[in-house]
Amino acid sequence: LANRAFHPEDSVVDVSGVKFGGGHLGLIAGPCSVESFEQVLEVARAVKASGATMLRGGAFKPRTSPYSFQGLGLEGLDILCAVRDEVGLPIVTELMSPQYLDVFNEKVDLIQIGARNMQNFDLLKQLGQIDRPILLKRGLNATYEEWIMSAEYIMASGNENVILCERGIRTFETFTRNTLDLQSIPVLRKKTHLPVVVDPSHAGGKWWLVEPMAKAAVAAGADGLMIEVHNNPECALCDGAQSLKPDKYDTLLQQVKQIAEVV
Ligand code: PEP
Ligand code: MN
Repeated sequence: LANRAFHPEDSVVDVSGVKFGGGHLGLIAGPCSVESFEQVLEVARAVKASGATMLRGGAFKPRTSPYSFQGLGLEGLDILCAVRDEVGLPIVTELMSPQYLDVFNEKVDLIQIGARNMQNFDLLKQLGQIDRPILLKRGLNATYEEWIMSAEYIMASGNENVILCERGIRTFETFTRNTLDLQSIPVLRKKTHLPVVVDPSHAGGKWWLVEPMAKAAVAAGADGLMIEVHNNPECALCDGAQSLKPDKYDTLLQQVKQIAEVV
């Protein structure tokens, strides 16, 4: 179902009015984690003023250490919804357990499946039972075929609204958090008709890598960007080192828009 051979034209996934694919560039920005209403509101207002079209923020966080901040959970989800109502940007947030599928289906515009759950096949099958759009991130060491097969699980179960998200893969290099696979953009767009979004924040793990990689991703044909922005990165509860301040995001977006015009 994901195969380009049986579906030559680009799929356009519509997320509460924001389109991804077929020449539409979706611009997602926001903090790694929801920390408070005031924090999300401040970031949301800033990124919207810069031109972002969707708001991100993790309420349930997949942390490597059980002692790290795990997210505000359902309270965080309610904060996101309140900010959406206030600012008018649709929201994307990560679902980790089928336990919350119904709540997410009801409240979230775009359901994110994180890298660590890309092959949680039971979860993927359940996503097929709803018709909310899904943002499927690439697993830390997933090949293109494995990633496409995970999209296929969701589609074969009945939900064809899938957006792929490249977020860097594990390589031997340890200076960067992951290695951004820019080649995945043309490869996935050749193999599938699904929109491909790039998350340069989790790829590089350093804020100063975000701008050059975001520009490269759009030049390579990405259908969208997902970027972490924080009003006070030094004090962020998660991923401060890779988060842009709102003014840096603003500069980046103006440059990205110029590139998008010539691609
Ligand atoms: C995230 O987007 O906040 C996240 C945890 O990303 P990933 O699953 O790609 O690590
Ligand atoms: Mn993060």
